[in-house]
Amino acid sequence: MQNGVVIVQGDKIVDLGSNLPIPSDAKVIDLGDATLSPGFMDAHTHLTLDFSGNYNERRLKELDQNVSEHAIKATTWARDTVEAGFTTVRDLGSRFVGSREFVDVALRNSINKGVIVGPRMLVATFGIGATGGHFDPTAGFRAGLFGREPDYSEGMADGPDAIRKAVRFEIKNGADVIKAAVSGGVLSLADEVDTPQLTPAEMAALVDETHRLRKKVAVHCHGDQAGREAIEAGVDSIEHGSFLKPETLTLMKNKGTYLTPTLLATEWILGKIDNYPPALQAKARAAGAARTEMFRNAVKMGIKISFGTDAAVFPHGQNAKEFKLMVDLGIAPIDALKAATSSDADLFGIAQKVGTLEKGKLADIVAMPGDPTADITATERVSFVMKEGKIIRNGPPSPKTAVRSTDEPTDSAFAD
Ligand SMILES: [Zn+2]
Repeated sequence: MQNGVVIVQGDKIVDLGSNLPIPSDAKVIDLGDATLSPGFMDAHTHLTLDFSGNYNERRLKELDQNVSEHAIKATTWARDTVEAGFTTVRDLGSRFVGSREFVDVALRNSINKGVIVGPRMLVATFGIGATGGHFDPTAGFRAGLFGREPDYSEGMADGPDAIRKAVRFEIKNGADVIKAAVSGGVLSLADEVDTPQLTPAEMAALVDETHRLRKKVAVHCHGDQAGREAIEAGVDSIEHGSFLKPETLTLMKNKGTYLTPTLLATEWILGKIDNYPPALQAKARAAGAARTEMFRNAVKMGIKISFGTDAAVFPHGQNAKEFKLMVDLGIAPIDALKAATSSDADLFGIAQKVGTLEKGKLADIVAMPGDPTADITATERVSFVMKEGKIIRNGPPSPKTAVRSTDEPTDSAFAD
């Protein structure tokens, strides 16, 4: 639409159109030659975590620092994310070894109450996984170091009944969405990247219990076998999907399962490969090599694609770099933009409130220079962000503080 005007009253869009007459009592924000879009969404963040620096150093810091210190840092990452134009995120897991704190729930609630500035969050709490699997916080450490094996109260569950207990426990404590690891992962020390980690019976229990409680299921999955079994069990989205074969993608298409490709996370790890122990380097290279063909196939087959990045693997606030990676692998720019707006809203189950610029919807609006369908990197230069009718940013972002990224190397493991 050319010469677009959006009229906002309170927290909602009350009218919009081309060259619309402006009400006489309105405050006018003229954004010039900018493109307005619904606020971006990211279907896969970890706003309470930061894995972007040296892997072993991060692992040591996690033990060294109180969870409350991590939580305070998370408030800056929430701000970085919303200032980059991401007004809604699905935050897929928050866990600190040896801790049962629900930091993501606290962050979401503090944002909702206006205590701090950040995106609307749908949170997953710990995420559910098998003993020794990708989510086991004690895997890779000496046995017994933390005094006990983690259980359902930290998301560890073996067997269908334990899975149901873990789902109920997480929803009891504030989870909006359930996350589970059905296959191995890249940044874990005790598993292979593509092994199946939940049985079909466990996945059936996971999906049944979660859907009964009217929540959705997102599964971390790189491997093809685990992917096939999870799609058959009825999960709502596959996160990563690196090794999915065309037959599995066909099954996904038939079931209407979303794929959240998280291209940026792999890209970041491969670009900083020396930051990771050799075993993880090999896993990242294998996943990176497989995912290109998988994503191209998924686009060609018309599978539902949600925009999600795995923010935390790279510094928070850089989420929009995912757009160009998607476009470079064959998705049309307009479809990448839809993935980050209306498709994510559909996957999150909030499409009646957000995801498009439409009368009656919440006023989540971003502006970027020029035309993002001609140059998708315009999404990386957002200059204006409104969330629920409140201006978060109009012009340059807030100055960065030292804790906002571990991108810069530090001298010792205890330096911050
Ligand atoms: Zn993740």
